[in-house]
Amino acid sequence: MKNVYHRLHLPYLETGLPSLLDQARQDQWTYEHFLERALTSELEGREQTAHLRRLKSARFPTAKSLEMFDFSFQPTLNERQIRELAGLSFVRTGRNVIFLGPPGTGKTHLSIALANEALQAGHSVLFTTLADLVHTVEQAAHPSLAQQRFRRYVTPNVLVIDEVGYTTLSSEQARHFFAVITARYEHGPVMVTSNLDFSQWGEVLGDSILATALLDRLLHHAEVLTINGPSYRMKERAQMKQGLLPDGPVSSERGGE
Ligand code: ADP
Ligand code: MG
Repeated sequence: MKNVYHRLHLPYLETGLPSLLDQARQDQWTYEHFLERALTSELEGREQTAHLRRLKSARFPTAKSLEMFDFSFQPTLNERQIRELAGLSFVRTGRNVIFLGPPGTGKTHLSIALANEALQAGHSVLFTTLADLVHTVEQAAHPSLAQQRFRRYVTPNVLVIDEVGYTTLSSEQARHFFAVITARYEHGPVMVTSNLDFSQWGEVLGDSILATALLDRLLHHAEVLTINGPSYRMKERAQMKQGLLPDGPVSSERGGE
């Protein structure tokens, strides 16, 4: 016969109980206070586990936050607009967020930081590059697996598609990209980063009509943030040369240049 904690699925309460009981005796808690603390410990344990699970499924390539972002380095970026996005109304209203700008200007950093805000607030998130997305769907061995992999990009509350523009897509890949954007329409926002202007997306997709249709859906409810500034990577490199930063890899994350 399993104990009552197992039967009621209260693993965190079971683990925390001995120390809670000690504290209750020592501080002479009321029954009400004890019960509330005991239930809270179960709740907090569950929330912590759910948070870790969401964090793992988000597949962030690296940890980035808004606190780590130096807005003074990127004056063309509207800090207030980013702070507003961090309030997450775009998640509730399904408004897409697009970052455009040259390499090293913080597009990936900001998309991870905002997606992380959504994750902290309890939303499910998935980060992917466009190249990974299209390969994953394309390389499924049979149609039902392709469908299952496709759903992976459709169901999260927030999907980040990083690096549109670094690889040119085959026509099949372009159709997968289009299908994901179309399907997300009903589910939740997508955050996209690109080093290219929208006028150049036809070349990435190898099909200007498909690119127009995709942009039409993507931009229907969207906030576009264009960063026209210097590369932060170059700044770090220059500082390294001057001996202001320790030698070593400039940034720990992969790709993006
Ligand atoms: P992009 O995706 O636009 O190519 P990243 O977001 O990958 O650029 O930025 C490159 C590196 O520089 C990352 O390590 C990022 O954290 C850092 N970085 C970029 N802009 C800033 C900034 N304004 N403040 C602090 N770090 C920055
Ligand atoms: Mg990037």
